[in-house]
Amino acid sequence: MTSLHDVSRAMILAGPGRALTMGRREPGVPNAGQILIGVKACGVCRTDLHIVDGELRWPGHPILPGHEVVGTVLETGAGVEGFSPGERVGVPWLGWTCGLCRYCLSGRENLCDRARFTGYQLDGGYADHLVADARYSFRLPAAYGDAEAAPLLCAGLIGYRALSMAGDAEHLGIYGFGAAAHIVAQVARYQGRTVYAFTRAGDASAQAFARGLGAAWAGDSTQLPPEPLDAALLFAPVGALVPQALRATAKGGTVVCAGIHMSDIPAFPYDILWGERRILSVANLTRRDAVEFLALAPKVPVRTAVETFPLEQANEALARLREGRINGAAVLIP
Ligand SMILES: [Zn+2]
Ligand SMILES: [Zn+2]
Repeated sequence: MTSLHDVSRAMILAGPGRALTMGRREPGVPNAGQILIGVKACGVCRTDLHIVDGELRWPGHPILPGHEVVGTVLETGAGVEGFSPGERVGVPWLGWTCGLCRYCLSGRENLCDRARFTGYQLDGGYADHLVADARYSFRLPAAYGDAEAAPLLCAGLIGYRALSMAGDAEHLGIYGFGAAAHIVAQVARYQGRTVYAFTRAGDASAQAFARGLGAAWAGDSTQLPPEPLDAALLFAPVGALVPQALRATAKGGTVVCAGIHMSDIPAFPYDILWGERRILSVANLTRRDAVEFLALAPKVPVRTAVETFPLEQANEALARLREGRINGAAVLIP
């Protein structure tokens, strides 16, 4: 007799540069502290592309990607608090931290030396089922459908963390207008900031999408905005954007690199950094970011634009994301 513990379809990545293939995965019985989740939707993130393309270090085993997981709790392991079977739950990128290192002990678990990430070292949500650590899983705002909630879990959380790094910047530039940007733009407008959207050259569709979300200006990433930026958030993984963003940024401004991978940053003259401009990166998320953002999103209210694909079309969804042919976020439905 089969049970949900031994039958789960999963789109598995056997090695970098390969296509994902449909296979079987045994999600197993949840251990102490874990929950077994029936996946309802899983977002497709640019980080998944970096993993497929071999731009992140290979963890040494086949990968079950997906770190924007929305599902229903089916079973709880011993000692799980806060979740009961039947409840909706979200699982983000940060899947486990040690709790002991200097980063964990100073409120910076996003930098934990031994952190494990969902859909990378840990199994992710490109599957029917997933076992996750309840301590790193979250309740989701009721206002969102399953597919609409999925992009909140990485595009939203990492975007929110990146936006926090912009401090009180009034004029905010966003480079790369995909899943994270379309959420961050709404939060930034809610906070009273003016948003300038930068896209691939000539991408009229993305520029119109940005204007529709309240951007005061949208143009090519090589252009200068009508006003100097107080901060620029870079979601596109293109190192050449760093000097371009510095040129668009006012004295004292900040350029935030929000992706996990970026092509090399070309050499640039010191005078575009001079004037106390800063460049920094955003790495991962803390559980506190998740709690804060998931409470804020329905107040804005953030609306997510999603394009859904059946689970077995994960490769197609990744290809479309690579080509920049998704307005908003791609979401897999098992
Ligand atoms: Zn740690
Ligand atoms: Zn992500």
